[in-house]
Amino acid sequence: MSYTLSVGSLRCHILSDGLQHVDGGGFFGLIPRTMWQSVIAPDELNQIACDSRCLLIESDAGLILVDTGNGDKLPAKARQRLGMDDRNNRLIGVLARLGVAPEDIDIVLLTHFHGDHVGGATRWAGEEGSPVVPAFPRARYIGQRLELADASFPNERTAATYLADNFKPLLECNRLQIVDGPQRLSRGVRTDIAPGHTIGLQTVWVEDGGESLLFLTDAASWAVHLERLAWVPAYDVMPLQSMETKRRLRQEALERNSLLVFQHDAQVVTARLGEGRRGPVIVPVITETADFDASR
Ligand SMILES: [Zn+2]
Repeated sequence: MSYTLSVGSLRCHILSDGLQHVDGGGFFGLIPRTMWQSVIAPDELNQIACDSRCLLIESDAGLILVDTGNGDKLPAKARQRLGMDDRNNRLIGVLARLGVAPEDIDIVLLTHFHGDHVGGATRWAGEEGSPVVPAFPRARYIGQRLELADASFPNERTAATYLADNFKPLLECNRLQIVDGPQRLSRGVRTDIAPGHTIGLQTVWVEDGGESLLFLTDAASWAVHLERLAWVPAYDVMPLQSMETKRRLRQEALERNSLLVFQHDAQVVTARLGEGRRGPVIVPVITETADFDASR
């Protein structure tokens, strides 16, 4: 699944890496299920559908890919547990349908190093278990220094998502450019630091001709997270910081009438903000019905 849209003269594509099944409590943290189930209904295992979207930007600096989805290196058991779509309906297949081959990508921006964002950055050279190589052979990959530090020395809580095979091979072949703080990638494309979910999380702004798009990554994984500041995922390492980050991003997006892209929301792909009685509210632009197969 993909959507093509323009921000001024810049063309962008929102690409899905497919739906997964994840525990509902992960995304909604302290919020009781009786509250979040009115946003998305869980199945009998308390699981919800979760997308993994990436952004492709046709920029002056070439094709910029933001995040890479789960990739193909997860063990079969994990793929089954997540209910992952087959390859054709995931990032590489969706890119191919747009006529984009992995070697066409010039820059891969990694918003953070969690497995569902950088898993597709590398792949096995041959069959399962063979050496791991960059999945985008010509690309320069960009990640934040603090994110690399956390990923390189994970703790008991983060070890399951910071997997060395997703980024170490990039370092070893000198393809991962480590940066510190906000960056300008090309005319109209820049990053910003949005701490909370992780220390070094980076969001992406696309801006041209008075229009703007904000790729929120896990600063607001679902649209409702931006509308209700107290709704912070259990995954976030600094939940109070997440709230302040969301407050700032929400105000900026509201003032600029920015198009918001949600990475994991299985229902709201893009939205803008409107003024509500109790603060800014989400006004969906592109929506989907999560095709969630609870009977699998
Ligand atoms: Zn994450």
